Amino acid sequence: TDTEQAKIRAKALIDLFSKPCAIEHYELIVTPSIGISLFPDDGDDHDTLLKCSDLAMYSAKNEGRNNFQFYSQHLQANDERTTAIEAALRRAIEQNELSLVYQPQVELRSNHITGVEALLRWQHPTLGYISPVEFIPIAEDSGQIIAIGEWVLRTAAKQMKQWLDNGMPLSVIAVNLSALQFRHPNLLFQITKILDEEGLPPHYLELELTERVAMDKPEEAIAIMQSGFKKGIRLSIDDFGTGYSSLSYLKRFPISKLKIDRSFVSHVQEDSDDRAIVSTIIDLANNLGLMTIAEGVENEQQLEFLRMQGCNEVQGYFFSPPTTAEEIERMTSWSENV
Ligand code: C2E
Ligand code: CA
Ligand code: CA
Repeated sequence: TDTEQAKIRAKALIDLFSKPCAIEHYELIVTPSIGISLFPDDGDDHDTLLKCSDLAMYSAKNEGRNNFQFYSQHLQANDERTTAIEAALRRAIEQNELSLVYQPQVELRSNHITGVEALLRWQHPTLGYISPVEFIPIAEDSGQIIAIGEWVLRTAAKQMKQWLDNGMPLSVIAVNLSALQFRHPNLLFQITKILDEEGLPPHYLELELTERVAMDKPEEAIAIMQSGFKKGIRLSIDDFGTGYSSLSYLKRFPISKLKIDRSFVSHVQEDSDDRAIVSTIIDLANNLGLMTIAEGVENEQQLEFLRMQGCNEVQGYFFSPPTTAEEIERMTSWSENV
């Protein structure tokens, strides 16, 4: 068949599946994902065509399922890059290619740096710099995030301990936790072991969970959060406002902070809706007894708006991009002296 006919067939199949089927007392709905490859453009043997349609099918799944996608060269290139990144990541820790940078978190009341967020960096000898936005999802899919996450936690704990030993007045180091790490049965054991071995009291560590991760199976999430909370580890909700928070769950989460997502903060000057969202999040947090930190603060106007609304802390390029541990030391002693 040709492209047009393939489209018609795919649509017909999806329509067919879209009718709910009654099985016992359940109504079940199937959301198929269809990948299409065409002979002879995409390949002239069975294996190649099947491989191409498989790639296209995964792309259909990524597009939210219940749709169809054609194979394209671009999918192939993406797939090759993913495979290369996955292979290179396997050696990233032992080859010393990973590092952490730290972004200051500034308390608005005192204008002091009170905490930092640890952010992962990966410089590969031939692939070059690869953003965590690209490699973290790959590390999640391949399960490598568990080992990488452990490395991040240990490196951050070690650094924080050293800062405290040097008398730096920091009260928290925030570490991002991925979905897979959060749901891993060994999580708490691993963290407790790291904190013990590095000699860092738990209340200096804050785990950042995205709203999406926290709200996925919330009852289960509450149980995991509770066990961390009992140990004295702090929790915050990252990218707040971008997911679908159920307020009844939010009030049950043993968290200390909401991180207002950058997408709202960056438009507070020109968009009255974003201003309303930011001030509503701050009110909500106040009423629930939670602290607020705004991410992605890039200029004075945004800062002033946040200050007026009663936001507790800010983080962003206006104060500093994520930077080295030495630079943090320099900035912290400077902020203490003003
Ligand atoms: P995130 O946790 O939301 O981190 C904030 C991101 O915003 C960082 O990007 C940071 O460099 C950037 N940023 C900070 N201030 C500004 C600003 O004023 N303007 C703009 N435009 N950007 C700002 P980065 O370091 O590229 O990290 C991206 C994402 O990768 C993070 O988003 C986080 O989801 C993930 N990530 C980074 N490190 C880790 C890690 O160790 N573990 C896990 N699981 N995820 C990580
Ligand atoms: Ca974060
Ligand atoms: Ca964030």
